[in-house]
Amino acid sequence: MAKYIFVTGGVTSSLGKGIFAASLAKLLQSRGLTVTIQKFDPYINVDPGTLNPYEHGECYVTEDGAETDLDLGHYERFLNVPTSQANNVTTGRVYQYVINKEREGAYLGKTVQVVPHITDEIKRRMLLLGQSGAFDVVITEIGGTVGDIEAQPYIETVRQIVWEQGHENAIVCHLTLVPYLKSAKELKTKPTQHSVKELQMYGLQPDILVCRTEMPLTTELRNKLALFCNVDKDSVVQASDVDSIYSVPLEMLKEKLDVTVLRKLHIGNNKECDLKKWNEFIDKLRHPSTEVKIGLVGKYIELQDAYKSIYESFIHAGVSNNCKVEVVNIHSEDLDKTNAAELLQGLDGVLVAPGFGSRGIEGKIDAIRYLRENNIPFFGICLGMQMAVIEWGRNVLGFSDAHSVEMAENTTHPVIDLMAEQKQITNKGGTMRLGAYNCDLREGTIAAQIYGKLHISERHRHRYEFNSKYQEQYEKSGMTCSGINPDSGLVEIVEIPSHPFFIGVQFHPELKSTVENPHPIFEAFIGAALKHQKTKSKQSLIAY
Ligand code: GLN
Repeated sequence: MAKYIFVTGGVTSSLGKGIFAASLAKLLQSRGLTVTIQKFDPYINVDPGTLNPYEHGECYVTEDGAETDLDLGHYERFLNVPTSQANNVTTGRVYQYVINKEREGAYLGKTVQVVPHITDEIKRRMLLLGQSGAFDVVITEIGGTVGDIEAQPYIETVRQIVWEQGHENAIVCHLTLVPYLKSAKELKTKPTQHSVKELQMYGLQPDILVCRTEMPLTTELRNKLALFCNVDKDSVVQASDVDSIYSVPLEMLKEKLDVTVLRKLHIGNNKECDLKKWNEFIDKLRHPSTEVKIGLVGKYIELQDAYKSIYESFIHAGVSNNCKVEVVNIHSEDLDKTNAAELLQGLDGVLVAPGFGSRGIEGKIDAIRYLRENNIPFFGICLGMQMAVIEWGRNVLGFSDAHSVEMAENTTHPVIDLMAEQKQITNKGGTMRLGAYNCDLREGTIAAQIYGKLHISERHRHRYEFNSKYQEQYEKSGMTCSGINPDSGLVEIVEIPSHPFFIGVQFHPELKSTVENPHPIFEAFIGAALKHQKTKSKQSLIAY
């Protein structure tokens, strides 16, 4: 039978519940347990797929095509195990299911209510992965903060599960903030006490308190928190600010969080944590031998969370290249023909980001032209790949109005077109081409060399595609279609073999990069950037 750990948050949002859940899972996994993490989000959207990244950060896509919260990305990056549709549930999805059942007549004669119908459905989903028999431990993160009106049904359900499963099978970790007041020169415990009281009001007692803090917690303070929040003394865990999210599992290990959790859940496990690979990664991350500057051209760059998986993939690929990747954010709306050189020339490589809609795309196209013509490593993802195809169409093939039908419905050169399967679709939610698809790589191409194999699978999230009517013209003029979907014939990768590094992919490689398995294209891109840096410095020496 699986054991359950619930992670709630108090005092404020953005304390890093997702990173904490992933770190705890990592520690348990490193002791040989099979662990999965799921996130329950209290908002009413059925999934975050239709949310603007400014609202909720990146939309993460799973192998089975679920559009999910970005925390699932952390779970996969830490655990190196894929998540699925079942790992992310929202209030919208729960209500949709219950209301559909009501219409089918499943509750005939009954009044359908939050308690028990909504809470029962939440419970069914909270227990689902645990009942699959695939996991020893299921960690469930509850989105939002305790006290939010919309989170109440979730807290009530957790209370019921703890009661039903028993305290030795289900525990609650409550993540809170212990703020430091400069004027008083003191850490303050009152906000934590209040948020625990709030939980207790709903009948839920935290087993472990995880305290985010800028200053170390003294023993006296830990004892005070334990006493007033009704937890064991060794169950007050300090979570200090650290240099990298990947250091959090090590911090939690120092706090013996794994030992406390195993004891509370009555899991007999004498194994040592095997974090050898993880430690090697951290060591390399902290001691890079060199540095590269990579431009990230996008329209949401003000918001770090909008391109979360891309930033993390850079970290993974940097470590495997023994270098630090400094990401220079460039707003696509700030770019045009006149300043592309000024903004891009100092960079060792540039990634043009995924996206939707027309804002900032001409800047992306101008940037790509500059990178192509000046032999600077280029990596385009999804919309970034589509813009590379448009740029080539306009400036190499001479199709002056080459465009994507997404932005210019009536272009005479629709080099990027709406996919056939999308033409009848009007609903926006969950209707893109989503999830993992196979791709065959053409022998002898850069893509085949990067992957070291000819059959790959990558995750997608798009409606538009390279228009294969133009494939021959592109190939003849020097842009190779090196990755093709074997079933639909869709072009998934384009590259320019005569360029030092120019690759565009219709899929999202950033969704599959993990600490243990950095993505090969990101690795190769950083490798090419390092090479470009060396060539640049040689050239400047010659000029000197
Ligand atoms: N807007 C483009 C499409 O739908 C690209 C999507 C993306 O970058 N994820 O095809």
